Amino acid sequence: MARVPLLAGNWKMHGTRAEATALAGALAKSVGTVSGREVLIAPPYTALEAARQAIAGTCILLGAQNVHGEPKGAFTGEIGAAMLVEAGCTHVIVGHSERRQYFGETDESVNARIRGALAANLVPIVCVGETLAEREAGTTAAIIERQVRGGLAGLDAAVGRCVMAYEPVWAIGTGRTATPAHAQDVHKAIRGLLAALAGAAVANNVRILYGGSVKPDNVDALMAEADIDGALVGGASLDAASFTRIVQYQESR
Ligand code: PEP
Repeated sequence: MARVPLLAGNWKMHGTRAEATALAGALAKSVGTVSGREVLIAPPYTALEAARQAIAGTCILLGAQNVHGEPKGAFTGEIGAAMLVEAGCTHVIVGHSERRQYFGETDESVNARIRGALAANLVPIVCVGETLAEREAGTTAAIIERQVRGGLAGLDAAVGRCVMAYEPVWAIGTGRTATPAHAQDVHKAIRGLLAALAGAAVANNVRILYGGSVKPDNVDALMAEADIDGALVGGASLDAASFTRIVQYQESR
């Protein structure tokens, strides 16, 4: 089965309700009826409802930027998966490097959050990626393996309900993009790990997104690689014209 490409915008901590209405509204017009690929936006929690209204009736999907592992409880500042479903989300980003770096998230907590998402039928977009120091130390493969095995521990066939995202930390928000060849190597390795965890048939159906300074001028080359099944886009997803062009990447494979 062919993997349907997914182009996802991570708005991070950007977007008042008014800004979300404007940006999501612009995307609804430009890519709201796109076919052959999926489009998703992940605004901040407070802008989910405004974005939901702006994309209503289009093919654009709504996601959140994090979720707790428990459905509810005494976890101040956190949010449960059912709450996100109620807000119109179908997807949620989990384990973003900014969560790992600034908020102490670990492979173990990422695993719990993935389980929380899956329990409510949310699709987790599971982020993994090495830092610059890890890359320079030659430990990229080991770090990715630890994050994939730790994050997906015990999920077995439910691995097939996840989307993966390879986001080298040194490429996020820096303007430095991994070369398509480097990204492809890591994506292939991730697919191999997924196969070891859940079997080749499951692994072949899991989409693996690339993230890290994806822009209109590099998306075509990235998307030409065999195991790159989409993009997780930060900065460029805040500009309607740029994200539109990314969604409308030119196919060449
Ligand atoms: C991200 O935050 O997921 C990301 C990839 O950001 P940027 O595109 O700005 O590098």
